[in-house]
Amino acid sequence: MSELVAIEVSHAFPGTRVLESVSLTVEAGQLVCLIGPSGCGKTTLLRVIAGLDRLQRGRVLVEGKVVADADARRHTSPEKRGIGLMFQDYALFPHLNVFENVVYGVARSGERATWAREALARMGLEGYADAYPHTLSGGEQQRVALLRALAPAPKVLLLDEPFSDLDITRRAQIREETFDLLKETGVATLMVTHDPEEAMFMADHILVMAGGRIVQAGPPLKTYLEPVDAFVAALFGPVNRLEGTVAGGRVATPLGSLAADGIPDGTRVQVLIRPEALQLDPAPDGVAGDTELSVDWARLLGRTSLVRLRMRSRATGAEVLLHARVYGTFLPATGTAVSVRLDRDRAFVFPAADN
Ligand code: ATP
Repeated sequence: MSELVAIEVSHAFPGTRVLESVSLTVEAGQLVCLIGPSGCGKTTLLRVIAGLDRLQRGRVLVEGKVVADADARRHTSPEKRGIGLMFQDYALFPHLNVFENVVYGVARSGERATWAREALARMGLEGYADAYPHTLSGGEQQRVALLRALAPAPKVLLLDEPFSDLDITRRAQIREETFDLLKETGVATLMVTHDPEEAMFMADHILVMAGGRIVQAGPPLKTYLEPVDAFVAALFGPVNRLEGTVAGGRVATPLGSLAADGIPDGTRVQVLIRPEALQLDPAPDGVAGDTELSVDWARLLGRTSLVRLRMRSRATGAEVLLHARVYGTFLPATGTAVSVRLDRDRAFVFPAADN
């Protein structure tokens, strides 16, 4: 069942249109991530769904009931929508300790209180129940705010950047605990994030937003491997960019030719290639005739090595720099000639912006 439904929601602040006809659904137990660049309207969408900002156009339903309808001038107040909220200013009550903050609005003993104690322990906050918010780090306060939002067992949960204050060493672990907790509760969650890896990890379904519109909606795998345009491709990680012209339904590049499905012959195109799509071998073969490919530098970044390649046309002397990301330690010396195999699943062809 769709616990949360938004239908053609539009919103403007004086002089700025922020949301343009946004529709979405979140099912029970589903985790939907909303990702997009700063200022594209993500927080505004959450605020409108929560009822913190009055709906200007469209409709919002929670558990099948209309909580906001712009045409009917209907506006249920935020606390009556049955939505759990955790926003970036996760204002905890300063005069209440951690446990009291979490169980605020629910009974201090009984099933939800027991849940709260267990959830605090799972989130690494055992021993903090009696502490006051000002004595906690930002990341700890975020986790308390998350549990406070979940304590009343809402059917719908809205999260705005819930892990932004966590340092990198705790982030993966807390993210995983949160994922398990949300899946166990079966809550329908709409979560805003800036971080593509976080969206890929958490989401059943990703909504990509740009300029107040949803430009792509789908499961993580499809979003990553079948971006609808260059913007979405680049949002999910760095890309190498080459140019070309379509001929016979394909575009030729020094790294090999790619299908240009649905793009007419003669169209100028950009070819976007993910760094991990360049599979390197330390041997100077496999590169098209007049192109030399050599290592500019290589750095170990931990799990992967980043290699910058210098691609030079023998005919014209033109040079292009490419980045390749290789799993493990791969650190060839500067100047080493390499060959490249292109993983075409991670290379995309789109019409050039100035067509
Ligand atoms: P971020 O990722 O940086 O938090 P966002 O995608 O959540 O950004 P919003 O906070 O929804 O973006 O803001 C969208 C646009 O609306 C921005 O241009 C912002 O300046 C503007 N805006 C947001 N709130 C208001 C307000 N109360 N009054 C006027 N303009 C606002």
